[in-house]
Amino acid sequence: MKNQIKELEKEARKLEPDFKDRISMTAKVMHYGQNFLEDLPNKKSFIETDDKASEIRNHPFSEHSTELKDLLNLIEDQVDSAGLNPASGRHMGYIPGGGVYPSALADFLAAVSNRYAGVFFSSPGAVRIENMCIRWMCDLIGYPESSGGNLSSGGSIANLTGLVTARDHSGISSKDFENAVIYTTRQVHHCVIKAIKFGGLADATMRTIEMDDRYRMKPQVLDERIEEDKREGLIPLIIFASAGTTDLGAVDPLEDIAGIAEKHSIWLHVDAAYGGFFLLTKRGKQKMKGIEKADSVTIDPHKGLFLPYGSGALLVRDVQKLYDSQHMTANYLQDTLSATDELSPADLSPELSKHFRGLRMWLPLKLFGVKPFRAALNEKLALTNYFYQEVQKIEGIEVGPEPELSVMFFRYVPSHRDADTNKFNKKLVDALHKDGRVFLSSTSIEDTVYLRLAVLSFRTHLEDIELVLEILEKKINELKAGYSK
Ligand SMILES: *Cc1c(COP(=O)(O)O)cnc(C)c1O
Repeated sequence: MKNQIKELEKEARKLEPDFKDRISMTAKVMHYGQNFLEDLPNKKSFIETDDKASEIRNHPFSEHSTELKDLLNLIEDQVDSAGLNPASGRHMGYIPGGGVYPSALADFLAAVSNRYAGVFFSSPGAVRIENMCIRWMCDLIGYPESSGGNLSSGGSIANLTGLVTARDHSGISSKDFENAVIYTTRQVHHCVIKAIKFGGLADATMRTIEMDDRYRMKPQVLDERIEEDKREGLIPLIIFASAGTTDLGAVDPLEDIAGIAEKHSIWLHVDAAYGGFFLLTKRGKQKMKGIEKADSVTIDPHKGLFLPYGSGALLVRDVQKLYDSQHMTANYLQDTLSATDELSPADLSPELSKHFRGLRMWLPLKLFGVKPFRAALNEKLALTNYFYQEVQKIEGIEVGPEPELSVMFFRYVPSHRDADTNKFNKKLVDALHKDGRVFLSSTSIEDTVYLRLAVLSFRTHLEDIELVLEILEKKINELKAGYSK
């Protein structure tokens, strides 16, 4: 038996490379990572390929090992050379991602030590770091001491957890879910609709409140709808307001909405996944006035704090409500119950075993300080305004409202009488994607096609905006020439 065990051990020990091998592996990966970053300014932000990385499927798993060098080559060819490059500062579509470098190092350390950040007993230091991140964001919102929250994988899960907390706090029984009413606007992020489904509230009534000409919820209309629903015996449950809609960057009038929520005792959740970190700026603070009155807030460090994907957060004004909704115990966890200095992430979310994601936020914030983050966010606001002003100098460009934060939309209206404006703008966005140097996405607002510019990468600077303007004008002229032929 011992011999057999030893035989297995010999093979199993291959999972633990020795010092020399670790150094060599790390050096290869480091070399790849550094080349990736050095080469970033020359790389396209979008690469259209015919085979769509299908070659990777010709390398299935097997019992045999593969050289790291070959695997890095595969990653380079199949992953890093096709599709969107969110690390690029010229990615200005959707909501751009981040990826500040120290976060990668923190992820490395978190994975190497594999600290368990779920419960305080297991890693008091890791949990304190996560809770410091939460406290810093609560302070940013203007929340009281009684607030708290959880670091999630992203905004979608944070919104879901917020919804479930509101639902549980209301005390309504599942039999009454069909009488519940949820208020939002048509511009709400689609993950909220998903959350409603996951939260068992698919049969509840959704009221999409009318918006003003800047795509912001009309508080007066919200108030009237709630009154009406109450008269009809329905149960107004939750208001989903947005602090920076994904599509258009609109910030709902939070102060007024908070007043209405309070008057009717309805839970107010503010989805600030995109816009939240603009609270570090003067303009953001002014736009999001009233956010501190929300019962819960979603904010995404992997957007406005420039962290790599995998970092969202739910903040709740009274953390007890989150705890009451999410806390549960089991006999195999009894050892963990004695250590209670700090709230444990596992008591505040559906997750148990989880990545120590606080470290990737803590390290860059400590290393750089908050100042450059604030400057970068102010820079994004200014760049968006600059683009808004400059793009109008291109003849035929029609812009949406002045940007509230760092998203704006526009379209080109061809003067040629045969031209179909929607088609033209679709072709324009296709032409930009084919070119690939800069990436912008498009959207439809009431059947009108618009191009969107979203500035949120910490790597986007003035020269990148100038390049967008230059390429845009060139592509418009090329498409126009097509019409006059
Ligand atoms: C991005 C976004 C979400 C979704 O968050 P993920 O982190 O992508 O899961 C939700 N709401 C808004 C307003 C967003 O911009």
